[in-house]
Amino acid sequence: MRFLVISDLHASLEATEAVFHAADGAYDQILCCGDLVGYGPSPNEVIEQIAARQALCVRGNHDKVACDIDDASLFNEQAQQAITWTRMALTPEHKRFLQELPQGPILVDGNRYQLAHGSVLNEDEYVYSPEEAYDSLNDSAAPITFVGHTHVCGAFSLRKNGFVQAGIDDMEKLQFDVWISLAGGSRYLINPGSVGQPRDGDPRAAYVLFDSDDCAVMFKRVEYDIQKVQEKMRATPLPGYLIRRLEFGE
Ligand code: ZN
Repeated sequence: MRFLVISDLHASLEATEAVFHAADGAYDQILCCGDLVGYGPSPNEVIEQIAARQALCVRGNHDKVACDIDDASLFNEQAQQAITWTRMALTPEHKRFLQELPQGPILVDGNRYQLAHGSVLNEDEYVYSPEEAYDSLNDSAAPITFVGHTHVCGAFSLRKNGFVQAGIDDMEKLQFDVWISLAGGSRYLINPGSVGQPRDGDPRAAYVLFDSDDCAVMFKRVEYDIQKVQEKMRATPLPGYLIRRLEFGE
């Protein structure tokens, strides 16, 4: 079976549609690591896209705050301003959709792989380094875990010898558009990057294709109409910093 793995859509309809268009025909099921809303101008429309495609999805920290499960006390000022507007803009039906999203990690396809937002241990925890990845890799119930939250695409592996490193096994630099095999016996934390607000210096929408039969992943990027998103944002009280950062991927 082939999966489209996405995360951190952040209410960007244009980025979401670009990913669905680019990946069309290449997958059977969507796996989503959360943060459908927050920051961007189209929260209702993005939820509709995810609901219509019956994506298997865990909740993100922005989803939790947008639907009143959590308060915004951990957010910085811009994120707080954005979530205040998002709460107002969301329809009751879409708020309910967010309230019903499960907390990660959730196991998929028996115990073969799982989805989480932050780390395996804590949905709000950021995993940027091998040190931060170690506990998730070691304690996880499945050999492969897909995570989001950092908006940085990449992977961490835990080898049989207990050595944890950034990337997949011996792959030194992240490669795009090629199938990368995941070795049996190793454990992996894989982050597809962010659809709607990449922060790894590449402004294009990020996603991953996962072939569960061959146990391989492919990292992908696709351009989307950033200016259109920015125009929509300017018609809302969303902060200028959030509008500008999209074109830099930061
Ligand atoms: Zn996010």
